[in-house]
Amino acid sequence: MGHELIPLPAFRDNYIWLLAGDKSAIVVDPGDAVPVRMALEQRHLSLAAVLITHHHADHMGGAAALALQYGCPVFGPAGEVIDAVTEPLREGQQADIPQLETCFKVLEIPGHTAGHIAYYGHNIVFCGDTLFSAGCGRLFEGTAAQMCRSLAKLMALPDSTAICCGHEYTVANLRFARALEPGNRDILDYAAEAAELRSRDLPTLPSTLGRERCLNPFLRCGESAVVTAAQRHAGHELHGQIEVFTVIRSWKDTFT
Ligand code: ZN
Ligand code: FE
Repeated sequence: MGHELIPLPAFRDNYIWLLAGDKSAIVVDPGDAVPVRMALEQRHLSLAAVLITHHHADHMGGAAALALQYGCPVFGPAGEVIDAVTEPLREGQQADIPQLETCFKVLEIPGHTAGHIAYYGHNIVFCGDTLFSAGCGRLFEGTAAQMCRSLAKLMALPDSTAICCGHEYTVANLRFARALEPGNRDILDYAAEAAELRSRDLPTLPSTLGRERCLNPFLRCGESAVVTAAQRHAGHELHGQIEVFTVIRSWKDTFT
């Protein structure tokens, strides 16, 4: 069965991911029910399931209304309190979606929130606010060490994996990436491509893991250019990838 993967823009810079089969679809992180309803009606699709990565309102605010309207299950992290979730999931479990003849494996990836999960299947990972294109999520409930482990878990997936994240932050993220690695050609090329897409109001996503490995500074904390930039910013020597990550994560928080 052919599947179509569509990012639905919501709020200021969120994406709600729609994966559609012939007759039904799933959505990931519906912060708002309205754009989901419109997309489903337009395409004459029913809703087979809602998948939620973490408890922030911009990712699950529309889940309860959609579940009620379509009578579908809501998968979500077992480690977080989300009223709409009917199927709590842990690492190693999976979200089965028989209507699409598919299933997604759950990866626990704490850091942005304490119970954040990702869904992996179909050569796609829905990673919420953990890995962004050219960036990563803020540490609201987790530690730098946790986030590094979570990113390493995502990095173990194949290069061709489509990265479907929760926000359109690519252009701003690339400005920061470029400040760290001014000599990285992949960053420059992608910055031009991303700016062009955004000027036409098109999404820069999904990215691929192969691309992210080449230019996402948060996946490159062992690269000498990133280490050097982080040390210069910190004003002292750094030891190990977690220290480098810690410095660039807090640097990014105030970078404009
Ligand atoms: Zn979030
Ligand atoms: Fe978010």
